[in-house]
Amino acid sequence: MNGPMNRRDCLKVLGLSGLATGLGSSRSQAQNVGESSGFQSSVLASHKVQSGWANATLVNGKVIQPQRELTILDSTDVLVVGGGPAGVVAAIAAQRAGANVTLVERYGHLGGLWTGGLVLLVLGHIVQGGKQVCQGIGEEIMGRLDKLDGAIIDRRSGVNPTVDAEAVKYVMVEMIEEAGVKTFLHCWGVDAIVNDNAVQGVVFESKSGRQAILAKIVIDATGDGDVFASAGAEFEHRSHNVGLVYRIGNLDRIDKDKAGDSPAPKRIGAHTPVPGVNWVNLRGPEVDGLDVATLTRMEMSHRKYIWSHIQKTRQTPGYEQVYLMETAPQLGVRITRVLQGLSTVSLDDLKAGTKFPDVVGVGGSESGNHGPWQIPYGALVPTKVENVLAAGRCISAEIRMADLVRLIPNCFVTGHAAGAAAAVAVQDGRRPRDVDVAKVQKILTEQGAYLG
Ligand SMILES: Cc1cc2nc3c(=O)[nH]c(=O)nc-3n(C[C@H](O)[C@H](O)[C@H](O)COP(=O)(O)OP(=O)(O)OC[C@H]3O[C@@H](n4cnc5c(N)ncnc54)[C@H](O)[C@@H]3O)c2cc1C
Repeated sequence: MNGPMNRRDCLKVLGLSGLATGLGSSRSQAQNVGESSGFQSSVLASHKVQSGWANATLVNGKVIQPQRELTILDSTDVLVVGGGPAGVVAAIAAQRAGANVTLVERYGHLGGLWTGGLVLLVLGHIVQGGKQVCQGIGEEIMGRLDKLDGAIIDRRSGVNPTVDAEAVKYVMVEMIEEAGVKTFLHCWGVDAIVNDNAVQGVVFESKSGRQAILAKIVIDATGDGDVFASAGAEFEHRSHNVGLVYRIGNLDRIDKDKAGDSPAPKRIGAHTPVPGVNWVNLRGPEVDGLDVATLTRMEMSHRKYIWSHIQKTRQTPGYEQVYLMETAPQLGVRITRVLQGLSTVSLDDLKAGTKFPDVVGVGGSESGNHGPWQIPYGALVPTKVENVLAAGRCISAEIRMADLVRLIPNCFVTGHAAGAAAAVAVQDGRRPRDVDVAKVQKILTEQGAYLG
């Protein structure tokens, strides 16, 4: 096609040519002035007033939220809230096991901290002796990255691979679409819908307003336990280091002659699939990752620190061309709420190599420096509230295990388990606590997971 595309051509390319006809016939369109690139805009409604909007009101100095009916956006078997490593794997597992699944994510992309947090190094897929314990759908994601140009490096035995965040986002969309998972992005889960102590769905906020999604089983893969906490499940509220990861560029343009033998600047990070680009992990102080004022303070102070640190780096002879490429769009919150589950992952069990009859996954360690540790199904199930399962960094684990449980491959593993268990619960019409774990184990094994 020669010359600039008009709107119809553009929609044709996007496979939406029918839409072009439909929109053209029903809406009055205007050619905008001010930009010459052929954009078009239509008035969808004039003098519109938002209907059914019961505003909060100020009553005697208190803000009161009135009762109002919410639109039901969707009804599904399994609702997964949070599209990080755990949530994406959970959604694919449940859908492949025969359930209808809806996945909801507050940001515009999938991958959670792995992509939005720029946590690019995948630790924890192996155990002592080099055995790879993270298999199944998590490993399938890694295998797909292998096949893409520039998506992953260091995929060899005994080494921890590093990924490109954009490649991960791409692969996750591909796999979610292939599986047939219905997805809503830009949708923030704000409240569990609970009747008689059982979760019936979740209320979401988005640009479309406050809407509800009803579900037979909800998987909380928000990392922060937003859903199970709002449903009234018991949890432990923890603080942890909150950092901000960033990437720096032009490391392939260091002038080695100029740099000479003087020490290299500190904190220039580790390599990534993009030549000359490093990712830099930032530990940050131990704070409460649920407190909005603290989160704001962390974002601001980390940004100031990172900028001035890079300026100092650039003053080092030979490093003048190094630059700050990007800070992660998502703050590095490691741990906040942790479920109080029917079972709890513990360090003693790791040390003892305890085998659980309800094992649904095997966890790995940072550099293969521990033996395998089994994850019991009960660590995903709340002690009190029904119809909800936890997956990822917020499952039931004692504090000494938190830094292992939250590693990306271990989140794949618990996400996989939660997805399979949710599908079984739906098929058998049972509460998660009553699920036939043998059936869950069978599905997990069929889907390639390793259970020890
Ligand atoms: C700074 C830092 C460095 C790390 N380094 C490493 C490392 O080197 N190697 C490693 O393996 N691991 C590392 N980790 C840990 C790892 O990145 C995370 O623990 C892992 O990504 C957790 O996966 P998850 O799916 O449980 O949660 P997350 O990755 O946090 O994903 C949760 C998802 O839920 C969404 N969400 C949250 N709340 C809501 C809501 N209310 N409604 C809708 N969506 C919601 C989020 O946007 C996000 O997409 C690091 C973590 C941090 C913070």
